[in-house]
Amino acid sequence: MMKALVLEEYNKLVYKDVPEPHFSPDEVLVRIKACGICGSDVHGLDGSTGRRVPPLIMGHEASGKIEATGSEVKNWKSGDRVTFDSTVYPLDDWFTLEGRYNLSNNREVLGVSPGDYRRNGAFAELLAVPQHILYRIPDSVTYEQAAMVEAAAVALHAVKISGMKTGDNCVVTGAGMIGIFVIKLLVISGAGRIIAIDNDPARLDGAKKSGADDIFDPSDNDLPGKIKDLTSSRGADISFEAVGKSETVNTAISLSRKGGTVVLIGNSSKVIELPLQKVVTGEMKILGSCAIRGEYEVILKLLEDKRLTVDDQISAIAPLSEGAEWFRKLYNKEGKLNKVILVP
Ligand SMILES: [Zn+2]
Repeated sequence: MMKALVLEEYNKLVYKDVPEPHFSPDEVLVRIKACGICGSDVHGLDGSTGRRVPPLIMGHEASGKIEATGSEVKNWKSGDRVTFDSTVYPLDDWFTLEGRYNLSNNREVLGVSPGDYRRNGAFAELLAVPQHILYRIPDSVTYEQAAMVEAAAVALHAVKISGMKTGDNCVVTGAGMIGIFVIKLLVISGAGRIIAIDNDPARLDGAKKSGADDIFDPSDNDLPGKIKDLTSSRGADISFEAVGKSETVNTAISLSRKGGTVVLIGNSSKVIELPLQKVVTGEMKILGSCAIRGEYEVILKLLEDKRLTVDDQISAIAPLSEGAEWFRKLYNKEGKLNKVILVP
């Protein structure tokens, strides 16, 4: 048996004994050392998203040490420090073979049960994961930092697919954790001016500390005019939208130049309004960014080299046994919590 934090029914998390997972020949058994609580876990708690059907062990932002390996596992051994992709993707899928495994059919997210599958996650002492989603953690990177790699990799994926070139002026709408990582990675990637938009002064302060050159509240009068002043009268070359609502997507589009690119990362609304004529007559590119496609390796290297910091986004590190209480705090938005990491 092992300890796990189980969503037994909606709004009811119980820390209890459950059977240890079995692992197949191509899988490793990981002893979990840290697992972050994702916003999608908190929203999944009450059943509103339909993606955490109980009973379920949630958790997909994790790291740990290999405890045992299946008979077909060659490149990993027990004792290896690892993190892993949040998505288990099939290797023989058309999209995977096209190099786009994040879009593959029949992929499963760890700690998610949307109805057509149930895949237990990492709020537990042990988790079985296939060898092809593993990444080695450099010695100088802690397990808690490694549990932050998933979120940073989501941000890097957006930066990578945006096609950003050195010196491009960028707007980031939404300075939550993903927006902050986008800003940090834009600095590393050689962006020109980086402009952050958020309605929370504390978040804007965080954006500034993370490398944003300019910060604005979206209610600022003549925001498009001010952004034009900062970008040689053109508007942003690339906008990153990290909220996912009509207002913020419209802000991102309104601040972008003709022929510019708007990368949509935020995913909170099913349907939004789009300023069609501005997009069409401006020949703008609207690009969805989904999850991660191998960006773990680069993020781990940036952490090893101390070029990217994630510690400032960790609000608390707590025992897994207190998980239900931390979920409650996050659900009720008590305090200004960013990432809470649970340790089995
Ligand atoms: Zn997540």
